[in-house]
Amino acid sequence: MSTDPTVKELLQRNKFSRPTFASLPWTPADKLTKKTRRQSLTSTLHLGAIIRRVDTTTHRHSCVCPAASTLRLTVDISVVTCADPRCIPEQFLELRPVEAVIIRNMCGHAAPALNDILALDHLIGFTEIMVIHHTDCGALAFTDDQVRATLRKRRPDDEEIESMSFGTIKDLEQSVRDDLAVIKGSPLMRKELAERSYGFIYDIKTGLVSALED
Ligand SMILES: [Zn+2]
Repeated sequence: MSTDPTVKELLQRNKFSRPTFASLPWTPADKLTKKTRRQSLTSTLHLGAIIRRVDTTTHRHSCVCPAASTLRLTVDISVVTCADPRCIPEQFLELRPVEAVIIRNMCGHAAPALNDILALDHLIGFTEIMVIHHTDCGALAFTDDQVRATLRKRRPDDEEIESMSFGTIKDLEQSVRDDLAVIKGSPLMRKELAERSYGFIYDIKTGLVSALED
C-alpha cells in the first residue's frame, strides 16, 4: 500500500519555480543614499491606509477563510521562515488559507519560534515542520556586532546588549541545518514531529525551493 508522499519528497521530485520579486542588493537603512533608496524595494504603505483598506474589505475576509469561525483546526504543516517581505510562503508554496501555520522572524530561525511551535502543536498537532531560509537574506548583510554598536549608541550603559543576538548568519545552508538541529535537539519537541522536520532554501531570484539533503 502506498503512503502519501511527504512535503519533502514532493519538493525533491518537483523542484519548482514561481514568479518572484527581482533581487535587490541589501543596504542597511542608515547607509541608503538617494540613489540606492530609489533602487531599493520600498513600501510607502502606512497604517492609516491599511486601516482604510481593511475597513472596506472586512466582509470579504470572512469568506476567504473557510474555518474563520472555529478554532478546531487540523493543520499538518508549520512553516518557519524569514520575515523579509519578499519571502512570502503563501505564494511560493502556493498555500491556500488554513493549509499551514506560518511563523516568521528574522531569517526564519527555530529558536525564537520554538515556543510558538510547542504551543501551536499542543493546540493543532502538526505533522511536519518546514524550515525555509532564503537567498539574499538581510541576515547575511550585517552582523550582530553592528546591531549591538547601534544599540550601544542609544543606551551606552545597558549591559544586556552584549549578550543579545539578532539572528544574523554567515552561511545560508549551515543556518538551515543549525535551525533543524535546534528543533531536533529540543527535549520538549514531540519526537515524531522533530523527526519530520525538514530544511529548504528559497531562491528569491528564481522562486526555486530546494530541499536540503540530510
Ligand atoms: Zn531573510
